[in-house]
Amino acid sequence: MSSIADNVGTVTRRIQKATRNAGREPGSVNLLAVSKTRPASDLRAAHSAGQHAFGENYLQEALEKIDALSDLRDLEWHFIGPIQSNKTRQIAQAFDWVHSVDRLKIARRLSEQRGESAPPLNICLQVNVNEETSKAGCLLADLPALARDIMDLPNIHLRGLMAIPDPDQPDTELRASFQALADALEQLRRDNPGDSRLDTLSMGMSGDLDLAIEEGATWVRIGTAIFGARDGQ
Ligand SMILES: *Cc1c(COP(=O)(O)O)cnc(C)c1O
Repeated sequence: MSSIADNVGTVTRRIQKATRNAGREPGSVNLLAVSKTRPASDLRAAHSAGQHAFGENYLQEALEKIDALSDLRDLEWHFIGPIQSNKTRQIAQAFDWVHSVDRLKIARRLSEQRGESAPPLNICLQVNVNEETSKAGCLLADLPALARDIMDLPNIHLRGLMAIPDPDQPDTELRASFQALADALEQLRRDNPGDSRLDTLSMGMSGDLDLAIEEGATWVRIGTAIFGARDGQ
Protein backbone atom coordinates (compact mmCIF):
# COMPACT_ATOMS: atom_id res chain seq x y z
CA MET A 1 0.00 0.00 0.00
CA SER A 2 1.43 3.37 -0.93
CA SER A 3 1.57 6.14 1.63
CA ILE A 4 -0.38 9.38 1.53
CA ALA A 5 2.86 11.36 1.14
CA ASP A 6 3.88 9.23 -1.87
CA ASN A 7 0.42 9.65 -3.38
CA VAL A 8 0.66 13.45 -3.15
CA GLY A 9 3.90 13.21 -5.15
CA THR A 10 2.39 10.86 -7.72
CA VAL A 11 -0.73 12.99 -8.23
CA THR A 12 1.36 16.17 -8.43
CA ARG A 13 3.50 14.64 -11.18
CA ARG A 14 0.38 13.41 -12.98
CA ILE A 15 -0.98 16.98 -12.93
CA GLN A 16 2.33 18.40 -14.16
CA LYS A 17 2.43 15.91 -17.03
CA ALA A 18 -1.18 16.56 -18.05
CA THR A 19 -0.56 20.31 -17.88
CA ARG A 20 2.50 19.96 -20.14
CA ASN A 21 0.69 17.65 -22.58
CA ALA A 22 -2.16 20.13 -22.85
CA GLY A 23 0.34 22.88 -23.75
CA ARG A 24 -0.63 24.86 -20.67
CA GLU A 25 1.49 27.06 -18.42
CA PRO A 26 3.40 25.07 -15.73
CA GLY A 27 1.78 25.68 -12.34
CA SER A 28 -1.57 26.74 -13.81
CA VAL A 29 -3.40 23.74 -12.31
CA ASN A 30 -3.76 23.52 -8.52
CA LEU A 31 -4.29 20.38 -6.47
CA LEU A 32 -7.12 20.39 -3.95
CA ALA A 33 -6.78 17.37 -1.65
CA VAL A 34 -10.34 16.25 -0.86
CA SER A 35 -10.13 15.00 2.71
CA LYS A 36 -13.77 14.26 3.60
CA THR A 37 -14.13 11.32 6.03
CA ARG A 38 -10.33 11.31 6.65
CA PRO A 39 -8.83 11.86 10.10
CA ALA A 40 -6.68 14.93 10.76
CA SER A 41 -3.59 12.70 10.85
CA ASP A 42 -4.09 11.88 7.15
CA LEU A 43 -4.14 15.59 6.30
CA ARG A 44 -1.00 16.07 8.35
CA ALA A 45 0.68 13.32 6.29
CA ALA A 46 -0.33 15.06 3.04
CA HIS A 47 0.91 18.39 4.41
CA SER A 48 4.30 16.84 5.18
CA ALA A 49 4.55 16.12 1.45
CA GLY A 50 3.88 19.78 0.60
CA GLN A 51 0.09 19.80 0.27
CA HIS A 52 -1.54 22.99 1.56
CA ALA A 53 -5.08 23.12 0.11
CA PHE A 54 -7.75 20.80 1.51
CA GLY A 55 -11.37 20.34 0.41
CA GLU A 56 -14.09 19.33 2.85
CA ASN A 57 -17.78 18.44 2.26
CA TYR A 58 -19.24 18.21 5.77
CA LEU A 59 -19.14 21.27 7.99
CA GLN A 60 -18.96 19.71 11.46
CA GLU A 61 -16.26 17.29 10.45
CA ALA A 62 -14.33 20.06 8.74
CA LEU A 63 -14.46 22.39 11.75
CA GLU A 64 -13.00 19.67 13.96
CA LYS A 65 -10.08 19.17 11.57
CA ILE A 66 -9.51 22.91 11.14
CA ASP A 67 -9.22 23.12 14.91
CA ALA A 68 -7.01 20.01 15.24
CA LEU A 69 -4.61 21.33 12.58
CA SER A 70 -4.50 24.96 13.69
CA ASP A 71 -0.78 24.62 14.47
CA LEU A 72 -0.12 24.36 10.70
CA ARG A 73 -0.22 28.00 9.69
CA ASP A 74 -0.18 27.62 5.91
CA LEU A 75 -3.32 25.55 5.28
CA GLU A 76 -6.01 26.72 2.86
CA TRP A 77 -9.52 25.38 3.47
CA HIS A 78 -12.06 24.90 0.67
CA PHE A 79 -15.71 24.01 1.27
CA ILE A 80 -17.02 21.83 -1.58
CA GLY A 81 -20.20 20.24 -0.18
CA PRO A 82 -23.89 21.12 -0.27
CA ILE A 83 -24.65 24.28 1.75
CA GLN A 84 -27.63 24.66 4.08
CA SER A 85 -28.49 28.28 4.70
CA ASN A 86 -28.32 27.88 8.50
CA LYS A 87 -24.64 26.83 8.16
CA THR A 88 -23.35 29.77 6.16
CA ARG A 89 -21.96 31.73 9.10
CA GLN A 90 -19.49 29.03 10.10
CA ILE A 91 -18.54 28.41 6.49
CA ALA A 92 -17.98 32.13 5.87
CA GLN A 93 -15.75 32.39 8.90
CA ALA A 94 -13.70 29.17 8.75
CA PHE A 95 -12.97 28.74 5.04
CA ASP A 96 -10.88 30.52 2.39
CA TRP A 97 -12.82 29.23 -0.61
CA VAL A 98 -16.34 27.88 -1.24
CA HIS A 99 -16.77 25.94 -4.51
CA SER A 100 -20.40 24.94 -4.10
CA VAL A 101 -22.44 28.16 -4.14
CA ASP A 102 -25.49 27.67 -6.35
CA ARG A 103 -28.00 30.37 -5.38
CA LEU A 104 -28.09 34.04 -4.55
CA LYS A 105 -29.48 33.58 -1.05
CA ILE A 106 -26.41 31.58 -0.02
CA ALA A 107 -24.02 34.07 -1.65
CA ARG A 108 -25.70 36.99 0.14
CA ARG A 109 -25.44 35.29 3.51
CA LEU A 110 -21.79 34.33 2.94
CA SER A 111 -20.95 37.92 2.03
CA GLU A 112 -22.78 39.38 5.05
CA GLN A 113 -21.35 36.86 7.46
CA ARG A 114 -17.82 37.03 6.12
CA GLY A 115 -17.74 40.64 7.23
CA GLU A 116 -15.22 43.30 6.31
CA SER A 117 -12.38 42.43 8.65
CA ALA A 118 -11.40 39.21 6.84
CA PRO A 119 -10.08 39.06 3.26
CA PRO A 120 -12.93 38.46 0.79
CA LEU A 121 -14.12 34.85 0.56
CA ASN A 122 -13.30 33.25 -2.82
CA ILE A 123 -16.29 31.52 -4.31
CA CYS A 124 -17.17 29.44 -7.34
CA LEU A 125 -20.63 28.96 -8.69
CA GLN A 126 -21.54 25.30 -8.95
CA VAL A 127 -23.15 24.52 -12.29
CA ASN A 128 -25.32 21.50 -13.06
CA VAL A 129 -23.86 21.15 -16.56
CA ASN A 130 -25.77 18.03 -17.53
CA GLU A 131 -29.03 19.27 -16.00
CA GLU A 132 -29.32 16.13 -13.89
CA THR A 133 -32.44 16.39 -11.74
CA SER A 134 -30.75 14.76 -8.75
CA LYS A 135 -27.79 17.17 -8.72
CA ALA A 136 -27.06 20.48 -7.06
CA GLY A 137 -25.93 23.48 -9.06
CA CYS A 138 -27.47 26.27 -11.08
CA LEU A 139 -28.41 25.83 -14.71
CA LEU A 140 -26.22 27.29 -17.45
CA ALA A 141 -29.15 29.43 -18.58
CA ASP A 142 -29.38 31.10 -15.15
CA LEU A 143 -25.67 31.71 -14.82
CA PRO A 144 -25.23 35.20 -16.37
CA ALA A 145 -27.85 36.89 -14.16
CA LEU A 146 -26.80 35.03 -11.03
CA ALA A 147 -23.12 35.86 -11.60
CA ARG A 148 -23.92 39.56 -12.06
CA ASP A 149 -25.84 39.71 -8.78
CA ILE A 150 -23.07 37.90 -6.95
CA MET A 151 -20.36 40.19 -8.31
CA ASP A 152 -22.10 43.10 -6.59
CA LEU A 153 -21.67 41.55 -3.13
CA PRO A 154 -18.88 43.19 -1.14
CA ASN A 155 -17.18 40.48 0.89
CA ILE A 156 -16.98 37.62 -1.58
CA HIS A 157 -15.08 37.38 -4.84
CA LEU A 158 -16.61 35.36 -7.63
CA ARG A 159 -13.57 33.46 -8.95
CA GLY A 160 -15.21 31.10 -11.43
CA LEU A 161 -17.20 27.91 -11.89
CA MET A 162 -17.31 24.41 -10.48
CA ALA A 163 -19.00 21.24 -11.74
CA ILE A 164 -19.24 17.58 -10.78
CA PRO A 165 -20.23 15.82 -14.01
CA ASP A 166 -20.99 12.14 -13.58
CA PRO A 167 -17.51 10.53 -13.81
CA ASP A 168 -19.01 7.31 -15.16
CA GLN A 169 -20.19 8.82 -18.45
CA PRO A 170 -18.22 7.96 -21.58
CA ASP A 171 -15.12 10.14 -22.14
CA THR A 172 -16.66 12.03 -25.06
CA GLU A 173 -19.60 13.12 -22.91
CA LEU A 174 -17.41 13.91 -19.94
CA ARG A 175 -15.21 16.05 -22.17
CA ALA A 176 -18.29 17.85 -23.50
CA SER A 177 -19.35 18.59 -19.90
CA PHE A 178 -15.95 20.07 -19.04
CA GLN A 179 -16.03 22.08 -22.27
CA ALA A 180 -19.48 23.42 -21.44
CA LEU A 181 -18.16 24.70 -18.11
CA ALA A 182 -15.06 26.21 -19.74
CA ASP A 183 -17.22 27.91 -22.40
CA ALA A 184 -19.51 29.31 -19.69
CA LEU A 185 -16.52 30.85 -17.89
CA GLU A 186 -15.26 32.31 -21.17
CA GLN A 187 -18.66 33.88 -21.73
CA LEU A 188 -18.70 35.35 -18.20
CA ARG A 189 -15.27 36.84 -18.82
CA ARG A 190 -16.47 38.40 -22.06
CA ASP A 191 -19.57 39.80 -20.33
CA ASN A 192 -17.47 41.23 -17.48
CA PRO A 193 -14.22 42.42 -19.06
CA GLY A 194 -13.34 44.56 -16.04
CA ASP A 195 -13.21 41.60 -13.66
CA SER A 196 -9.78 39.99 -13.76
CA ARG A 197 -10.59 37.66 -10.87
CA LEU A 198 -12.67 35.33 -13.03
CA ASP A 199 -9.86 32.83 -13.48
CA THR A 200 -11.06 29.57 -11.91
CA LEU A 201 -12.43 26.29 -13.24
CA SER A 202 -12.88 23.72 -10.48
CA MET A 203 -13.34 20.42 -12.30
CA GLY A 204 -11.78 16.96 -12.45
CA MET A 205 -11.54 14.25 -9.80
CA SER A 206 -9.30 11.18 -9.34
CA GLY A 207 -10.71 9.34 -12.37
CA ASP A 208 -10.92 12.18 -14.86
CA LEU A 209 -8.28 14.74 -13.95
CA ASP A 210 -6.30 14.43 -17.22
CA LEU A 211 -9.39 15.15 -19.30
CA ALA A 212 -10.34 18.08 -17.05
CA ILE A 213 -6.87 19.60 -17.38
CA GLU A 214 -7.03 19.28 -21.17
CA GLU A 215 -10.25 21.28 -21.04
CA GLY A 216 -8.89 24.03 -18.81
CA ALA A 217 -9.28 23.03 -15.13
CA THR A 218 -7.40 25.30 -12.72
CA TRP A 219 -8.32 23.30 -9.59
CA VAL A 220 -8.62 19.52 -9.68
CA ARG A 221 -10.33 18.03 -6.61
CA ILE A 222 -8.64 14.75 -5.71
CA GLY A 223 -9.67 12.43 -2.88
CA THR A 224 -9.24 8.74 -3.63
CA ALA A 225 -5.92 8.99 -5.51
CA ILE A 226 -4.35 10.63 -2.45
CA PHE A 227 -6.10 9.07 0.56
CA GLY A 228 -7.33 5.74 -0.87
CA ALA A 229 -10.93 4.52 -1.28
CA ARG A 230 -13.42 5.89 1.23
CA ASP A 231 -15.49 3.50 3.36
CA GLY A 232 -18.57 2.29 1.55
CA GLN A 233 -17.00 2.66 -1.91
C1 LIG B 1 -15.47 13.52 -2.94
C2 LIG B 1 -15.36 14.63 -3.90
C3 LIG B 1 -14.25 14.74 -4.76
C4 LIG B 1 -13.12 13.74 -4.80
O1 LIG B 1 -13.48 12.60 -5.50
P1 LIG B 1 -12.42 11.40 -5.74
O2 LIG B 1 -13.07 10.59 -6.79
O3 LIG B 1 -12.27 10.70 -4.43
O4 LIG B 1 -11.14 12.01 -6.21
C5 LIG B 1 -14.21 15.84 -5.60
N1 LIG B 1 -15.17 16.77 -5.61
C6 LIG B 1 -16.25 16.70 -4.79
C7 LIG B 1 -17.29 17.77 -4.85
C8 LIG B 1 -16.37 15.63 -3.93
O5 LIG B 1 -17.45 15.55 -3.14
